[in-house]
Amino acid sequence: MSNPSLLILPGDGIGAEVMEEVKKIITWFGDKRGLNFDVSEDLVGGAAYDAHGTPLHDDTMAKAQEVDAVLLGAVGGPKYDVLDFSVKPERGLLRLRKEMDLFANLRPAQCFDALADFSSLKKDIVAGLDIMIVRELTSGSYFGEPRGISDLPDGQRVGINTQRYTTDEIRRVARAAFELAKRRNNRVCSMEKANVMESGILWREEVIWVHENEYPEVELSHMYADNGAMQLVRAPKQFDVIVTDNLFGDILSDCAAMLTGSLGMLPSASLGAPMENGRPKAMYEPVHGSAPDITGQGKANPCACILSFAMALRYSFDAGEEATRLETAVEKVLADGVRTADLLPAGDTSPVSTSQMGDAVIAALDASL
Ligand code: NAD
Repeated sequence: MSNPSLLILPGDGIGAEVMEEVKKIITWFGDKRGLNFDVSEDLVGGAAYDAHGTPLHDDTMAKAQEVDAVLLGAVGGPKYDVLDFSVKPERGLLRLRKEMDLFANLRPAQCFDALADFSSLKKDIVAGLDIMIVRELTSGSYFGEPRGISDLPDGQRVGINTQRYTTDEIRRVARAAFELAKRRNNRVCSMEKANVMESGILWREEVIWVHENEYPEVELSHMYADNGAMQLVRAPKQFDVIVTDNLFGDILSDCAAMLTGSLGMLPSASLGAPMENGRPKAMYEPVHGSAPDITGQGKANPCACILSFAMALRYSFDAGEEATRLETAVEKVLADGVRTADLLPAGDTSPVSTSQMGDAVIAALDASL
């Protein structure tokens, strides 16, 4: 059987720097665990614009459609701020998500014990936190029509966006959430605003339909999204999997992410429909951007990108045990006090560099054998 295929798109700024560390880890899994991938690499974002005049070349898009998983670093940077909206680096990322139809965005919020002090919340509220937010990514208010800004007869202007969801759009993301819950602690909390929005009523009804007809063994609860935001900062450990729409998910996942401390620690996955081989279309990427303020200085924390690769092992390559091995290696490195600058108080003089952090994770992987 051929090896699973992985397309690496390092992108811009620290995206390229953190991806170098992930490449070392991919090699480690090949050498030490016999887990080999057919890896190809290409350009996205500003790097693609510099080479081709477009943030995502058609050939790269075609490759992304064919591989088993895409691993992306980050895109963007001040150099590209002057570009027309249609060729900005972020358009490359949006095109990948749209054309691969990646409708389920998985954002874990996991608090490693060693970093519990970094949260803005009290340690006992976040220590041991492990929740997963599933955000619908391809529909809702960010895409619904009509939209736009127009003039009113009385001289005012009006801005319109439309919250719109169909049965299928809700059911498929609900299924993704129930499937995840089965691999975790078997609980899903669905969040919407069914008290004031018809789209929220439909959301709730369709999630209940999927639950009753396909996943009755999973525990389902419902919460209004505003209460959900309060509960996330009051008692986040009450949740296992949260499923919600694009707009609420955007806000709730950022809120949950910050419970855990640093942007440099946050992975994500975006999944679509299953391909012919049964694997979902998938793109994995750290939540952070290209961080121009620290680019080229060896300061970037590679853990978010490394943990994104761990998600790829789990959700694309059926290698859950190896994913856990990698996550445990990261946890051990942090417990040993190895820290990049973002994980230390300002002015601390003991940070390790990006590549030293990658090497420390590899040493911990070696020790796990
Ligand atoms: P950012 O995430 O790049 O940086 C925010 C802050 O967090 C910066 O101070 C940065 O130094 C720090 N930071 C981020 N990742 C880090 C890491 N791994 N290790 C240590 N520190 C880290 O967000 P921004 O500054 O708002 O945006 C910079 C550029 O990135 C912009 O062009 C923006 O459009 C783009 N961006 C891209 C993505 C993406 O590719 N998915 C996401 C967000 C922003």
